Amino acid sequence: MAFSIKKAAVIGSGVMGSGIAAHLANVGIPVLLLDIVPKELTKEEMAKGLSLEDKTVRNRMVNSALTRLLKQKPAPLTHKEHLSYIHTGNLEDDVEKLSEVDWIIEVVVENLDVKRKVFELIDKYRKEGSIVSSNTSGISVNAMAEGRSEDFQKHFLGTHFFNPPRYLKLLEIIPTEKTNPDVLTYMHQYSENVLGKGVVIAKDTPNFIANRIGTYGLLVTVREMLKGGFSIGEVDSITGTLIGRPKSATFRTLDVVGLDTFIHVANNVYEQVEGDEKQVFKVPEFMIKMHKNGWLGSKSGQGFYLKK
Ligand code: NAD
Repeated sequence: MAFSIKKAAVIGSGVMGSGIAAHLANVGIPVLLLDIVPKELTKEEMAKGLSLEDKTVRNRMVNSALTRLLKQKPAPLTHKEHLSYIHTGNLEDDVEKLSEVDWIIEVVVENLDVKRKVFELIDKYRKEGSIVSSNTSGISVNAMAEGRSEDFQKHFLGTHFFNPPRYLKLLEIIPTEKTNPDVLTYMHQYSENVLGKGVVIAKDTPNFIANRIGTYGLLVTVREMLKGGFSIGEVDSITGTLIGRPKSATFRTLDVVGLDTFIHVANNVYEQVEGDEKQVFKVPEFMIKMHKNGWLGSKSGQGFYLKK
């Protein structure tokens, strides 16, 4: 079977979706970046007299993703001009365009039900033979593919990029029981040769490899910090700059990841392990409170550190 990715679509233009779209643009792949239509107007939109039917409002999520791509540091785009490879829209108005692309990457919130609904839609509009993948941090890829058409299931797998996608080389690829081996081989080679990634093929276990270890390490660090009375600043300098890493490895990273996403990812393992191991993956109460307050990190402007 011959595959060729000439055009891609990314669904979900948040922290990761916008970064993945930028990475594709950097290697010259035209990409359609889609998100949901907002249900309410912002104060600024109201002041401008806009309505929910206006194109700028309907495309607000992807438009703010583009602004972020140009402002973010370190820069997600190798050259600002690469932005012209990214075409934006929303799933409601542009879903039929999914039939024009060779690879569709789902990058919406880390929630199985939401992702399943998106895959149902993709299944309806994708062209036969196109590759579909999920950027999930650790939800079962087999569970995500359940109920989908045979052609979808043969062409579906997990492609887990790391944040920020332009700079972190690792890509976990997770096949399902039904992924066609040719699709796996193609995506492995494509990811290494075209996207410049270092690929690890992972089994469909909760949080795969990197996030199983990473979530464990982070939660143990936080628990020891609370027990020992260490400060966030102390932990960050010792796991970051003082040990020679360019940036802090713990709380500043959490601000970049997004606390909402981190909690989803930790809960994903918590719900699937038993006994003592459950306590390790339990998110500490102070983080739950921060989440409730909307202190999600860079994406909300307030996290462990104030956004610069
Ligand atoms: P995010 O909250 O920044 O962005 C999610 C985006 O999905 C939002 O723009 C939201 O409007 C959109 N969305 C929600 N429901 C949608 C729908 N039904 N249709 C279309 N768009 C929809 O989240 P994120 O951090 O970009 O995470 C996205 C995925 O990537 C998750 O599965 C997450 O686990 C994974 N991931 C995140 C990181 C990270 O560091 N943040 C790293 C690797 C993988």
